[in-house]
Amino acid sequence: MATRIRPGNKRCAVIGGSGFLGRHLVERLVQKGYSVAVFDIAQRYELPGVTFHQGDLCDKQALLTVLKDVPLVFHCASPSPACDDRSLFQKVNVEGTRTIIDACQEAGVQKLVLTSSASVVFEGTDIKNGKEDLPYAKKPIDYYTETKIQQEKIVLEACSKEKGFLTVAIRPHGIFGPRDPQLVPILVDTARRGKMKFIIGDGSNLVDFTYVENVVHGHILAAEHLKADSALCGKAYHITNDEPIRFWDFMSQVLVGLGYSAPRYHLPYALVYGIAMLLWLLTLLLRPLVSIKPTFTPMRVALAGTHHYYSCSRAKRDMGYEPPVSLKEAVARTVASYPHLRREA
Ligand code: NAD
Repeated sequence: MATRIRPGNKRCAVIGGSGFLGRHLVERLVQKGYSVAVFDIAQRYELPGVTFHQGDLCDKQALLTVLKDVPLVFHCASPSPACDDRSLFQKVNVEGTRTIIDACQEAGVQKLVLTSSASVVFEGTDIKNGKEDLPYAKKPIDYYTETKIQQEKIVLEACSKEKGFLTVAIRPHGIFGPRDPQLVPILVDTARRGKMKFIIGDGSNLVDFTYVENVVHGHILAAEHLKADSALCGKAYHITNDEPIRFWDFMSQVLVGLGYSAPRYHLPYALVYGIAMLLWLLTLLLRPLVSIKPTFTPMRVALAGTHHYYSCSRAKRDMGYEPPVSLKEAVARTVASYPHLRREA
């Protein structure tokens, strides 16, 4: 289907606009008066002001039909981290992102806003108030993150004032909110199976969880502040709720809000990490005989048991970012949006 978008500057395309973050972004853009073209490999939804294009972002010709006459592109598509498919991450996040840049430049797109991830600097050890100048992880926590690093580098390096093609990357952390298919549903499923009783470590580790509307706000601010003479060109920006919270307090608030018990019993971090490491080594040894994909991995233990929270002072300084929705309000809205996952349901 050919794109029919209103003339004027408030036009954009959202690649990955059918996903959790993408759809929230599209809805907010429409509220702000943008005409939006969604490009996604998956499901469509009806929304006035939005045209849908189903396609694979690795297909340059398909992209070109959508990007013609669009000055601004948001790229928030990615295979799910849970799929753990190295070649798919490589194909979509790395090769596909190169294809998007080619298509943008050929179509005359002026600005590209990438959804990256704060995990590009996380290696499994504490990060406290991390700034954007931390080096990329030398040992990324998984294949997904490995390709998010390459993707961010490719996008930021493509920024060229001479060519009139400007890029910026947003690094959110722990996005949550209504319609998220991952965090809350997985948490509830784990609780229903009786596996949310334990706290790894002393429970004092601080982490960022970021409400989806705040992440959307950061993306739109970045797009609107990205200009040839602005500081944003070719830079990465952490976008968080700016309220780091104890990892286990956040989990408890969501669980208790939905009628489940909060985890109570502490397990020593070193012990749990050690067991996860042994299991992982065992799967490596058994790999020639049997293929097992353990969900209880050392990196998952690290994600639950270490500090990892990030400063968003650069976003405050360069684009006036302040999170519009507080963590307390965000948790309340999120819990209220999952009535079907309540304990009594
Ligand atoms: P999501 O899975 O809900 O959305 C991703 C979308 O990308 C889906 O609609 C999917 O169909 C689409 N997509 C995948 N492969 C595609 C392809 N080849 N061509 C076209 N579309 C394709 O994920 P999300 O949680 O909304 O994440 C959005 C972005 O935010 C991703 O780039 C992710 O890496 C990043 N991110 C997410 C989190 C989080 O906590 N969810 C944290 C940091 C960064």
